[in-house]
Amino acid sequence: MTMLKEGRPTAPQAVREEHMAPATATGNRALMLEEPLIFEIGSNDTTGVDFAAAPKAVSRLGNLARKDAIGLPGLSEQETVRHYTRLSRQNYAIDLGLFPLGSCTMKHNPRLNEKVARMPGFADLHPLQPQSTVQGALAVIHELAQWLITLTGMHGVAMSPKAGAHGELCGLLAIRAALEARGDARSVVLVPESAHGTNPATAAFCGYKVEDIPATPDGRVDLAALKARLGPDVAAVMITNPNTCGLFERDLKTISEAVHAAGAFVYCDGANFNAIVGRVRPGDLGVDAMHINLHKTFSTPHGGGGPGSGPVVLSEALAPFAPLPFVEKQGDKFVLVEEETVEDHHGRSFGRMVAFHGQMGMFTRALAYILSHGADGLRQVSGDAVLNANYILRSLADVLDAPFGGSGPCMHEALFSDKGLAEGFTTLDIAKGLIDEGFHPMTMYFPLVVHGAMLVEPTETESKAALDQFIMALRSLAERAKAGDEALKGAPYHAPRRRLDETLAARKPVLVWTEPELAEAAE
Ligand SMILES: *Cc1c(COP(=O)(O)O)cnc(C)c1O
Repeated sequence: MTMLKEGRPTAPQAVREEHMAPATATGNRALMLEEPLIFEIGSNDTTGVDFAAAPKAVSRLGNLARKDAIGLPGLSEQETVRHYTRLSRQNYAIDLGLFPLGSCTMKHNPRLNEKVARMPGFADLHPLQPQSTVQGALAVIHELAQWLITLTGMHGVAMSPKAGAHGELCGLLAIRAALEARGDARSVVLVPESAHGTNPATAAFCGYKVEDIPATPDGRVDLAALKARLGPDVAAVMITNPNTCGLFERDLKTISEAVHAAGAFVYCDGANFNAIVGRVRPGDLGVDAMHINLHKTFSTPHGGGGPGSGPVVLSEALAPFAPLPFVEKQGDKFVLVEEETVEDHHGRSFGRMVAFHGQMGMFTRALAYILSHGADGLRQVSGDAVLNANYILRSLADVLDAPFGGSGPCMHEALFSDKGLAEGFTTLDIAKGLIDEGFHPMTMYFPLVVHGAMLVEPTETESKAALDQFIMALRSLAERAKAGDEALKGAPYHAPRRRLDETLAARKPVLVWTEPELAEAAE
Protein backbone atom coordinates (compact mmCIF):
# COMPACT_ATOMS: atom_id res chain seq x y z
CA MET A 1 0.00 0.00 0.00
CA THR A 2 1.32 3.46 -0.88
CA MET A 3 1.01 6.10 1.75
CA LEU A 4 1.14 9.85 1.35
CA LYS A 5 3.43 11.82 3.62
CA GLU A 6 0.96 12.18 6.48
CA GLY A 7 0.02 8.54 6.25
CA ARG A 8 -3.23 9.28 4.45
CA PRO A 9 -4.17 6.17 2.43
CA THR A 10 -4.15 6.71 -1.33
CA ALA A 11 -7.26 6.10 -3.36
CA PRO A 12 -6.92 2.37 -4.23
CA GLN A 13 -7.03 1.34 -0.60
CA ALA A 14 -9.80 3.80 0.18
CA VAL A 15 -11.83 2.40 -2.71
CA ARG A 16 -11.61 -1.12 -1.32
CA GLU A 17 -12.78 0.12 2.05
CA GLU A 18 -15.60 2.04 0.42
CA HIS A 19 -16.94 -1.12 -1.14
CA MET A 20 -16.88 -2.88 2.21
CA ALA A 21 -18.36 -0.07 4.24
CA PRO A 22 -22.05 -0.47 5.08
CA ALA A 23 -24.32 2.47 4.29
CA THR A 24 -25.03 4.79 7.20
CA ALA A 25 -28.52 5.61 8.42
CA THR A 26 -28.12 9.35 7.87
CA GLY A 27 -26.40 9.25 4.50
CA ASN A 28 -23.45 10.99 6.19
CA ARG A 29 -19.97 9.53 5.80
CA ALA A 30 -17.84 10.21 8.81
CA LEU A 31 -17.39 13.98 8.85
CA MET A 32 -18.65 14.40 5.30
CA LEU A 33 -22.18 15.54 5.85
CA GLU A 34 -25.18 15.42 3.60
CA GLU A 35 -26.74 18.86 3.61
CA PRO A 36 -30.34 19.43 2.53
CA LEU A 37 -31.54 22.82 1.32
CA ILE A 38 -32.60 25.28 3.98
CA PHE A 39 -36.19 24.92 2.67
CA GLU A 40 -36.04 21.21 3.41
CA ILE A 41 -34.77 21.70 6.95
CA GLY A 42 -37.31 24.24 8.17
CA SER A 43 -40.89 24.72 7.12
CA ASN A 44 -43.41 27.46 6.66
CA ASP A 45 -45.16 26.45 9.85
CA THR A 46 -42.18 26.76 12.15
CA THR A 47 -40.33 29.83 13.28
CA GLY A 48 -37.00 30.46 14.89
CA VAL A 49 -38.24 33.36 16.98
CA ASP A 50 -40.86 33.59 19.67
CA PHE A 51 -42.61 36.95 19.56
CA ALA A 52 -45.80 37.76 21.39
CA ALA A 53 -48.66 38.27 18.93
CA ALA A 54 -48.79 41.89 17.82
CA PRO A 55 -51.74 43.91 19.12
CA LYS A 56 -54.37 44.39 16.49
CA ALA A 57 -53.46 47.52 14.62
CA VAL A 58 -54.93 49.23 11.63
CA SER A 59 -52.84 48.34 8.61
CA ARG A 60 -51.78 51.28 6.52
CA LEU A 61 -50.34 49.09 3.78
CA GLY A 62 -53.55 49.05 1.76
CA ASN A 63 -53.28 46.69 -1.18
CA LEU A 64 -49.54 46.35 -0.55
CA ALA A 65 -50.22 44.11 2.47
CA ARG A 66 -48.99 40.56 2.08
CA LYS A 67 -51.80 38.15 1.21
CA ASP A 68 -49.99 34.82 1.37
CA ALA A 69 -47.13 33.35 3.27
CA ILE A 70 -43.85 34.22 1.53
CA GLY A 71 -42.60 30.65 1.73
CA LEU A 72 -39.52 31.14 3.86
CA PRO A 73 -38.67 28.26 6.19
CA GLY A 74 -38.46 28.97 9.91
CA LEU A 75 -35.30 27.68 11.56
CA SER A 76 -33.77 28.13 14.96
CA GLU A 77 -30.53 30.06 15.20
CA GLN A 78 -28.57 26.87 15.81
CA GLU A 79 -30.13 25.09 12.83
CA THR A 80 -29.27 28.06 10.65
CA VAL A 81 -25.69 28.30 11.90
CA ARG A 82 -25.17 24.57 11.38
CA HIS A 83 -26.60 24.70 7.88
CA TYR A 84 -24.23 27.41 6.70
CA THR A 85 -21.25 26.04 8.61
CA ARG A 86 -21.76 22.64 6.98
CA LEU A 87 -22.03 24.23 3.56
CA SER A 88 -18.83 26.17 4.18
CA ARG A 89 -17.05 22.89 4.97
CA GLN A 90 -17.97 21.54 1.55
CA ASN A 91 -15.95 24.31 0.01
CA TYR A 92 -12.37 23.72 -1.02
CA ALA A 93 -10.19 26.71 -0.24
CA ILE A 94 -6.61 27.85 -0.69
CA ASP A 95 -6.41 27.93 3.12
CA LEU A 96 -7.12 24.16 3.14
CA GLY A 97 -4.76 22.92 0.47
CA LEU A 98 -2.99 23.41 -2.83
CA PHE A 99 -5.35 24.76 -5.49
CA PRO A 100 -3.80 23.78 -8.82
CA LEU A 101 -6.27 25.54 -11.15
CA GLY A 102 -4.30 26.67 -14.20
CA SER A 103 -4.82 30.24 -15.41
CA CYS A 104 -6.38 31.16 -12.06
CA THR A 105 -3.33 31.92 -9.91
CA MET A 106 -4.75 30.63 -6.64
CA LYS A 107 -1.94 31.82 -4.41
CA HIS A 108 -1.80 32.33 -0.68
CA ASN A 109 -3.15 35.71 0.38
CA PRO A 110 -0.92 37.20 3.06
CA ARG A 111 -2.91 38.10 6.17
CA LEU A 112 -1.10 41.41 6.28
CA ASN A 113 -3.20 42.49 3.26
CA GLU A 114 -6.35 41.63 5.17
CA LYS A 115 -5.27 43.64 8.16
CA VAL A 116 -4.62 46.68 5.99
CA ALA A 117 -7.91 46.32 4.09
CA ARG A 118 -9.79 46.22 7.40
CA MET A 119 -8.28 49.42 8.78
CA PRO A 120 -11.34 51.54 9.60
CA GLY A 121 -9.92 54.50 7.67
CA PHE A 122 -10.27 52.40 4.50
CA ALA A 123 -13.00 49.90 5.36
CA ASP A 124 -15.55 52.38 6.69
CA LEU A 125 -15.43 54.89 3.84
CA HIS A 126 -18.50 55.78 1.86
CA PRO A 127 -18.04 56.39 -1.86
CA LEU A 128 -20.07 59.61 -1.68
CA GLN A 129 -17.96 61.18 1.09
CA PRO A 130 -16.51 64.59 0.24
CA GLN A 131 -13.12 64.18 -1.40
CA SER A 132 -11.42 66.23 1.29
CA THR A 133 -12.26 63.43 3.78
CA VAL A 134 -10.90 60.54 1.66
CA GLN A 135 -7.48 61.88 0.73
CA GLY A 136 -5.78 58.78 2.14
CA ALA A 137 -7.86 56.42 0.00
CA LEU A 138 -7.23 58.51 -3.11
CA ALA A 139 -3.52 58.50 -2.26
CA VAL A 140 -3.60 54.67 -2.14
CA ILE A 141 -5.26 54.49 -5.57
CA HIS A 142 -2.72 56.97 -6.94
CA GLU A 143 0.30 55.18 -5.48
CA LEU A 144 -0.91 51.78 -6.68
CA ALA A 145 -1.47 53.27 -10.13
CA GLN A 146 2.14 54.55 -10.17
CA TRP A 147 3.43 51.08 -9.24
CA LEU A 148 1.41 49.43 -12.01
CA ILE A 149 2.65 51.96 -14.57
CA THR A 150 6.26 51.46 -13.45
CA LEU A 151 6.07 47.66 -13.37
CA THR A 152 4.54 47.49 -16.84
CA GLY A 153 6.43 50.36 -18.49
CA MET A 154 3.17 51.86 -19.73
CA HIS A 155 1.88 55.43 -19.93
CA GLY A 156 -1.36 55.44 -17.95
CA VAL A 157 -3.73 53.17 -16.09
CA ALA A 158 -7.49 52.87 -15.70
CA MET A 159 -8.14 51.67 -12.16
CA SER A 160 -11.90 51.19 -12.22
CA PRO A 161 -12.47 47.86 -14.08
CA LYS A 162 -13.66 45.24 -11.63
CA ALA A 163 -12.15 42.04 -13.01
CA GLY A 164 -9.94 40.73 -15.78
CA ALA A 165 -12.73 40.36 -18.30
CA HIS A 166 -14.04 43.83 -17.38
CA GLY A 167 -10.53 45.15 -18.01
CA GLU A 168 -10.57 43.58 -21.47
CA LEU A 169 -13.79 45.45 -22.15
CA CYS A 170 -12.15 48.67 -20.95
CA GLY A 171 -9.13 48.12 -23.21
CA LEU A 172 -11.22 47.38 -26.29
CA LEU A 173 -13.50 50.36 -25.65
CA ALA A 174 -10.40 52.57 -25.44
CA ILE A 175 -9.13 51.08 -28.71
CA ARG A 176 -12.49 51.64 -30.37
CA ALA A 177 -12.59 55.25 -29.12
CA ALA A 178 -9.06 55.88 -30.43
CA LEU A 179 -9.90 54.44 -33.85
CA GLU A 180 -13.14 56.38 -34.07
CA ALA A 181 -11.35 59.56 -33.02
CA ARG A 182 -9.17 59.26 -36.10
CA GLY A 183 -12.22 58.42 -38.24
CA ASP A 184 -11.08 54.86 -38.84
CA ALA A 185 -13.66 52.54 -37.25
CA ARG A 186 -12.61 48.96 -37.95
CA SER A 187 -14.57 45.73 -37.64
CA VAL A 188 -12.30 42.78 -36.85
CA VAL A 189 -10.39 41.62 -33.76
CA LEU A 190 -7.87 38.82 -34.18
CA VAL A 191 -7.55 36.33 -31.33
CA PRO A 192 -4.97 33.52 -31.35
CA GLU A 193 -6.07 30.01 -30.42
CA SER A 194 -3.82 30.15 -27.37
CA ALA A 195 -5.68 33.15 -25.90
CA HIS A 196 -7.90 33.01 -22.84
CA GLY A 197 -11.58 32.36 -23.58
CA THR A 198 -12.65 35.74 -22.25
CA ASN A 199 -10.76 37.46 -25.11
CA PRO A 200 -13.02 36.43 -28.01
CA ALA A 201 -16.05 36.89 -25.74
CA THR A 202 -15.03 40.48 -24.97
CA ALA A 203 -14.33 41.31 -28.61
CA ALA A 204 -17.73 39.90 -29.64
CA PHE A 205 -19.42 41.81 -26.81
CA CYS A 206 -17.88 45.02 -28.19
CA GLY A 207 -19.47 44.28 -31.55
CA TYR A 208 -16.30 43.14 -33.33
CA LYS A 209 -16.08 40.20 -35.65
CA VAL A 210 -13.68 37.71 -34.05
CA GLU A 211 -11.22 35.75 -36.17
CA ASP A 212 -8.92 32.99 -34.96
CA ILE A 213 -5.20 32.95 -35.57
CA PRO A 214 -3.79 29.41 -35.41
CA ALA A 215 -1.10 28.25 -32.99
CA THR A 216 2.23 26.82 -34.10
CA PRO A 217 3.14 23.23 -33.13
CA ASP A 218 5.15 24.69 -30.23
CA GLY A 219 2.05 26.33 -28.73
CA ARG A 220 2.62 29.96 -29.74
CA VAL A 221 0.98 32.46 -32.09
CA ASP A 222 1.64 31.67 -35.75
CA LEU A 223 3.43 34.87 -36.71
CA ALA A 224 3.20 34.28 -40.45
CA ALA A 225 -0.55 33.59 -40.29
CA LEU A 226 -1.06 36.69 -38.17
CA LYS A 227 0.93 38.92 -40.50
CA ALA A 228 -0.95 37.53 -43.50
CA ARG A 229 -4.31 38.42 -41.93
CA LEU A 230 -3.49 42.00 -40.88
CA GLY A 231 -5.24 44.65 -42.94
CA PRO A 232 -7.28 47.87 -42.84
CA ASP A 233 -10.29 46.11 -41.28
CA VAL A 234 -8.37 44.84 -38.21
CA ALA A 235 -8.89 46.97 -35.10
CA ALA A 236 -6.82 44.96 -32.64
CA VAL A 237 -5.03 41.73 -31.88
CA MET A 238 -5.63 40.24 -28.43
CA ILE A 239 -2.72 38.19 -27.16
CA THR A 240 -2.44 36.43 -23.84
CA ASN A 241 1.14 36.56 -22.61
CA PRO A 242 2.27 34.29 -21.08
CA ASN A 243 -0.35 32.37 -23.02
CA THR A 244 -2.71 29.70 -21.75
CA CYS A 245 -0.28 26.96 -22.73
CA GLY A 246 1.95 28.45 -20.04
CA LEU A 247 4.40 29.73 -22.66
CA PHE A 248 5.96 33.11 -23.29
CA GLU A 249 5.06 34.63 -26.66
CA ARG A 250 8.62 35.25 -27.81
CA ASP A 251 7.53 37.08 -30.96
CA LEU A 252 5.38 39.67 -29.20
CA LYS A 253 7.66 42.59 -30.10
CA THR A 254 7.69 41.60 -33.77
CA ILE A 255 3.94 41.06 -33.63
CA SER A 256 3.41 44.54 -32.14
CA GLU A 257 5.48 46.17 -34.87
CA ALA A 258 3.48 44.42 -37.58
CA VAL A 259 0.16 45.27 -35.89
CA HIS A 260 1.10 48.93 -35.49
CA ALA A 261 2.29 49.11 -39.08
CA ALA A 262 -1.19 47.93 -40.09
CA GLY A 263 -2.77 50.73 -38.04
CA ALA A 264 -4.18 48.38 -35.39
CA PHE A 265 -3.65 48.08 -31.62
CA VAL A 266 -2.15 45.34 -29.46
CA TYR A 267 -4.27 44.22 -26.55
CA CYS A 268 -2.36 42.00 -24.16
CA ASP A 269 -4.18 39.80 -21.68
CA GLY A 270 -1.92 40.27 -18.69
CA ALA A 271 -3.82 38.13 -16.20
CA ASN A 272 -0.74 35.95 -15.96
CA PHE A 273 1.54 38.87 -15.12
CA ASN A 274 2.69 36.99 -12.01
CA ALA A 275 4.91 34.94 -14.34
CA ILE A 276 6.89 37.94 -15.56
CA VAL A 277 6.46 40.72 -12.99
CA GLY A 278 9.79 42.40 -12.22
CA ARG A 279 11.42 40.88 -15.32
CA VAL A 280 9.53 42.01 -18.42
CA ARG A 281 7.74 45.31 -19.04
CA PRO A 282 4.91 44.83 -21.54
CA GLY A 283 5.34 48.48 -22.58
CA ASP A 284 8.76 47.53 -23.99
CA LEU A 285 7.07 44.87 -26.13
CA GLY A 286 4.79 47.36 -27.86
CA VAL A 287 1.60 46.57 -25.95
CA ASP A 288 -1.12 49.27 -26.14
CA ALA A 289 -3.49 48.01 -23.45
CA MET A 290 -3.23 45.27 -20.85
CA HIS A 291 -5.34 44.32 -17.89
CA ILE A 292 -3.73 43.17 -14.70
CA ASN A 293 -5.68 40.91 -12.38
CA LEU A 294 -4.87 42.35 -8.96
CA HIS A 295 -6.65 39.30 -7.53
CA LYS A 296 -4.10 37.03 -9.19
CA THR A 297 -0.70 38.66 -9.46
CA PHE A 298 -0.97 40.85 -6.38
CA SER A 299 -2.78 38.28 -4.20
CA THR A 300 -6.16 39.21 -2.67
CA PRO A 301 -8.72 36.39 -2.43
CA HIS A 302 -10.74 35.49 -5.48
CA GLY A 303 -13.13 32.85 -6.66
CA GLY A 304 -16.80 32.38 -6.11
CA GLY A 305 -17.50 35.37 -8.28
CA GLY A 306 -15.33 38.01 -6.77
CA PRO A 307 -14.55 40.59 -5.79
CA GLY A 308 -11.79 41.08 -8.31
CA SER A 309 -10.03 44.06 -9.75
CA GLY A 310 -8.69 44.47 -13.27
CA PRO A 311 -6.82 47.76 -13.79
CA VAL A 312 -5.82 48.38 -17.41
CA VAL A 313 -2.48 49.91 -18.24
CA LEU A 314 -2.50 51.96 -21.43
CA SER A 315 0.02 53.22 -23.98
CA GLU A 316 0.46 56.88 -24.77
CA ALA A 317 -1.86 56.49 -27.77
CA LEU A 318 -4.71 55.04 -25.69
CA ALA A 319 -4.33 56.79 -22.30
CA PRO A 320 -6.38 59.88 -23.33
CA PHE A 321 -9.39 57.62 -23.90
CA ALA A 322 -9.32 56.02 -20.43
CA PRO A 323 -12.62 55.82 -18.57
CA LEU A 324 -13.83 58.17 -15.85
CA PRO A 325 -13.39 58.65 -12.98
CA PHE A 326 -9.65 58.76 -12.38
CA VAL A 327 -7.42 60.02 -9.60
CA GLU A 328 -5.13 62.90 -10.31
CA LYS A 329 -2.59 64.60 -8.10
CA GLN A 330 -3.09 68.36 -8.21
CA GLY A 331 -0.48 70.09 -6.07
CA ASP A 332 -0.51 68.25 -2.75
CA LYS A 333 -4.16 67.20 -3.16
CA PHE A 334 -5.61 64.08 -4.74
CA VAL A 335 -8.66 64.68 -6.91
CA LEU A 336 -11.09 62.13 -8.25
CA VAL A 337 -11.84 63.52 -11.70
CA GLU A 338 -15.48 62.72 -12.38
CA GLU A 339 -16.06 64.73 -15.51
CA GLU A 340 -13.85 65.88 -18.31
CA THR A 341 -14.06 69.07 -20.21
CA VAL A 342 -11.94 69.81 -23.23
CA GLU A 343 -10.49 72.84 -21.43
CA ASP A 344 -9.20 71.22 -18.26
CA HIS A 345 -8.44 67.79 -19.75
CA HIS A 346 -8.24 66.21 -23.14
CA GLY A 347 -11.99 65.49 -23.02
CA ARG A 348 -11.70 62.22 -24.90
CA SER A 349 -12.60 59.62 -22.24
CA PHE A 350 -14.83 56.90 -23.66
CA GLY A 351 -17.11 57.24 -20.64
CA ARG A 352 -17.73 55.51 -17.35
CA MET A 353 -17.63 51.76 -16.62
CA VAL A 354 -18.57 51.69 -12.95
CA ALA A 355 -20.52 53.90 -10.59
CA PHE A 356 -17.51 54.77 -8.43
CA HIS A 357 -13.75 54.28 -8.64
CA GLY A 358 -13.25 50.52 -8.47
CA GLN A 359 -12.58 48.00 -5.73
CA MET A 360 -11.11 49.88 -2.79
CA GLY A 361 -10.58 46.70 -0.76
CA MET A 362 -8.56 45.19 -3.61
CA PHE A 363 -6.49 48.35 -4.00
CA THR A 364 -5.46 48.35 -0.35
CA ARG A 365 -4.60 44.63 -0.48
CA ALA A 366 -2.62 44.94 -3.70
CA LEU A 367 -0.64 47.94 -2.49
CA ALA A 368 0.10 46.20 0.82
CA TYR A 369 1.34 43.19 -1.14
CA ILE A 370 3.50 45.31 -3.44
CA LEU A 371 5.02 47.40 -0.65
CA SER A 372 5.71 44.39 1.55
CA HIS A 373 7.54 42.63 -1.30
CA GLY A 374 9.28 45.61 -2.85
CA ALA A 375 10.66 45.51 -6.38
CA ASP A 376 13.14 42.71 -5.56
CA GLY A 377 10.47 40.65 -3.85
CA LEU A 378 8.15 40.94 -6.84
CA ARG A 379 10.95 39.75 -9.11
CA GLN A 380 11.33 36.74 -6.84
CA VAL A 381 7.57 36.11 -7.02
CA SER A 382 7.74 35.53 -10.77
CA GLY A 383 10.93 33.51 -10.43
CA ASP A 384 9.43 31.19 -7.84
CA ALA A 385 6.11 30.86 -9.72
CA VAL A 386 8.01 29.71 -12.81
CA LEU A 387 10.33 27.45 -10.83
CA ASN A 388 7.43 25.69 -9.08
CA ALA A 389 5.58 25.09 -12.36
CA ASN A 390 8.70 23.67 -13.98
CA TYR A 391 9.30 21.41 -10.99
CA ILE A 392 5.84 19.91 -11.54
CA LEU A 393 6.32 19.69 -15.30
CA ARG A 394 9.64 17.86 -15.03
CA SER A 395 8.60 15.65 -12.10
CA LEU A 396 5.66 14.22 -14.02
CA ALA A 397 7.04 14.21 -17.56
CA ASP A 398 7.72 10.44 -17.33
CA VAL A 399 4.07 9.58 -16.58
CA LEU A 400 2.08 12.36 -18.25
CA ASP A 401 2.43 13.68 -21.79
CA ALA A 402 3.67 17.29 -21.76
CA PRO A 403 2.75 18.57 -25.23
CA PHE A 404 5.19 21.49 -25.30
CA GLY A 405 7.59 20.07 -22.74
CA GLY A 406 10.15 19.59 -25.48
CA SER A 407 10.19 23.27 -26.41
CA GLY A 408 11.93 24.40 -23.24
CA PRO A 409 10.78 25.39 -19.79
CA CYS A 410 7.23 26.57 -19.14
CA MET A 411 6.27 29.80 -17.43
CA HIS A 412 3.92 29.80 -14.43
CA GLU A 413 1.83 26.76 -15.37
CA ALA A 414 2.48 23.19 -16.50
CA LEU A 415 0.41 21.75 -19.32
CA PHE A 416 -0.26 18.02 -19.77
CA SER A 417 -2.46 16.07 -22.18
CA ASP A 418 -4.41 12.80 -21.97
CA LYS A 419 -2.13 11.11 -24.52
CA GLY A 420 -1.01 7.70 -23.29
CA LEU A 421 -3.86 7.01 -20.86
CA ALA A 422 -5.44 3.55 -21.21
CA GLU A 423 -8.32 3.16 -23.67
CA GLY A 424 -11.47 4.71 -22.18
CA PHE A 425 -9.63 6.75 -19.52
CA THR A 426 -9.81 10.51 -19.69
CA THR A 427 -8.65 13.75 -18.14
CA LEU A 428 -11.95 13.81 -16.24
CA ASP A 429 -11.03 10.56 -14.43
CA ILE A 430 -7.78 12.10 -13.23
CA ALA A 431 -9.55 15.30 -12.15
CA LYS A 432 -12.14 13.31 -10.16
CA GLY A 433 -9.40 11.17 -8.66
CA LEU A 434 -7.69 14.32 -7.37
CA ILE A 435 -10.81 15.07 -5.30
CA ASP A 436 -10.37 11.75 -3.49
CA GLU A 437 -6.73 12.63 -2.91
CA GLY A 438 -7.87 15.81 -1.14
CA PHE A 439 -7.02 18.32 -3.86
CA HIS A 440 -9.09 20.64 -5.99
CA PRO A 441 -8.81 19.41 -9.60
CA MET A 442 -6.58 21.25 -12.06
CA THR A 443 -8.05 23.22 -14.96
CA MET A 444 -9.14 20.65 -17.51
CA TYR A 445 -9.92 20.59 -21.24
CA PHE A 446 -8.43 24.08 -21.51
CA PRO A 447 -6.57 25.38 -23.48
CA LEU A 448 -8.48 23.92 -26.42
CA VAL A 449 -5.35 23.56 -28.56
CA VAL A 450 -4.33 20.49 -26.50
CA HIS A 451 -6.34 17.28 -26.41
CA GLY A 452 -7.64 16.46 -22.93
CA ALA A 453 -5.63 19.34 -21.46
CA MET A 454 -4.67 19.39 -17.79
CA LEU A 455 -3.38 22.81 -16.79
CA VAL A 456 -1.63 23.01 -13.43
CA GLU A 457 -0.60 26.30 -11.83
CA PRO A 458 0.99 25.78 -8.43
CA THR A 459 1.93 29.48 -7.85
CA GLU A 460 5.00 30.65 -5.98
CA THR A 461 3.48 30.30 -2.52
CA GLU A 462 3.59 26.48 -2.33
CA SER A 463 6.45 24.83 -0.46
CA LYS A 464 8.48 22.01 -1.98
CA ALA A 465 6.83 19.58 0.47
CA ALA A 466 3.37 20.62 -0.72
CA LEU A 467 4.43 20.30 -4.37
CA ASP A 468 5.89 16.84 -3.68
CA GLN A 469 2.65 15.66 -2.13
CA PHE A 470 0.63 16.96 -5.07
CA ILE A 471 3.06 15.39 -7.55
CA MET A 472 2.76 12.07 -5.70
CA ALA A 473 -1.04 12.20 -5.92
CA LEU A 474 -1.05 13.12 -9.61
CA ARG A 475 1.61 10.50 -10.38
CA SER A 476 -0.46 7.79 -8.67
CA LEU A 477 -3.56 8.83 -10.65
CA ALA A 478 -1.65 8.95 -13.93
CA GLU A 479 -0.27 5.47 -13.28
CA ARG A 480 -3.74 4.14 -12.48
CA ALA A 481 -5.23 5.74 -15.61
CA LYS A 482 -2.45 4.24 -17.73
CA ALA A 483 -2.89 0.82 -16.15
CA GLY A 484 -6.66 0.93 -16.76
CA ASP A 485 -7.66 0.76 -13.08
CA GLU A 486 -11.48 0.62 -13.42
CA ALA A 487 -12.03 1.90 -9.87
CA LEU A 488 -10.73 5.30 -10.98
CA LYS A 489 -13.77 5.69 -13.22
CA GLY A 490 -15.98 5.77 -10.12
CA ALA A 491 -14.04 8.57 -8.42
CA PRO A 492 -14.71 10.61 -6.39
CA TYR A 493 -15.68 8.18 -3.65
CA HIS A 494 -15.07 10.61 -0.81
CA ALA A 495 -17.13 13.63 -1.81
CA PRO A 496 -20.72 14.44 -0.84
CA ARG A 497 -21.68 13.92 -4.50
CA ARG A 498 -20.08 11.55 -7.00
CA ARG A 499 -20.16 12.21 -10.75
CA LEU A 500 -22.80 14.69 -11.75
CA ASP A 501 -24.37 14.93 -15.17
CA GLU A 502 -22.40 18.01 -16.16
CA THR A 503 -24.25 18.54 -19.44
CA LEU A 504 -27.61 18.50 -17.68
CA ALA A 505 -26.27 20.77 -14.95
CA ALA A 506 -25.13 23.30 -17.55
CA ARG A 507 -28.12 23.04 -19.87
CA LYS A 508 -30.96 22.67 -17.39
CA PRO A 509 -29.78 24.11 -14.08
CA VAL A 510 -32.39 23.98 -11.32
CA LEU A 511 -31.95 27.34 -9.65
CA VAL A 512 -35.24 27.71 -7.82
CA TRP A 513 -36.51 25.46 -5.08
CA THR A 514 -40.09 24.28 -5.58
CA GLU A 515 -42.09 22.37 -3.02
CA PRO A 516 -41.98 18.71 -3.99
CA GLU A 517 -45.80 18.48 -4.36
CA LEU A 518 -45.88 21.51 -6.65
CA ALA A 519 -42.94 20.20 -8.66
CA GLU A 520 -44.75 16.88 -9.11
CA ALA A 521 -47.99 18.60 -10.08
CA ALA A 522 -46.12 20.63 -12.69
CA GLU A 523 -44.78 17.51 -14.39
C1 LIG B 1 -8.39 34.87 -15.07
C2 LIG B 1 -8.10 35.26 -16.45
C3 LIG B 1 -8.96 36.13 -17.14
C4 LIG B 1 -10.27 36.65 -16.58
O1 LIG B 1 -10.15 37.34 -15.38
P1 LIG B 1 -11.43 37.56 -14.45
O2 LIG B 1 -10.96 38.41 -13.34
O3 LIG B 1 -11.86 36.20 -14.01
O4 LIG B 1 -12.50 38.22 -15.28
C5 LIG B 1 -8.60 36.52 -18.42
N1 LIG B 1 -7.50 36.03 -19.00
C6 LIG B 1 -6.65 35.18 -18.37
C7 LIG B 1 -5.42 34.69 -19.07
C8 LIG B 1 -6.93 34.75 -17.08
O5 LIG B 1 -6.12 33.90 -16.48
